[in-house]
Amino acid sequence: MGPDLRLLRVRCACGWETTGSERDVLAAAEEHGLRVHNMRATRDEIMATAVPVRREQA
Ligand SMILES: [Zn+2]
Repeated sequence: MGPDLRLLRVRCACGWETTGSERDVLAAAEEHGLRVHNMRATRDEIMATAVPVRREQA
């Protein structure tokens, strides 16, 4: 099971959330932060809010 098979969920303070692989949630959260909040989140900041999701719950 490679890292891309691990699902994560990232939730923003505004209520927005995204679920996907680590690469996907990092890209989506960075894009969301820039577009909606005009803030660039670092990888560490994003991953600090990420929680693992069981695939059957996605
Ligand atoms: Zn937000």
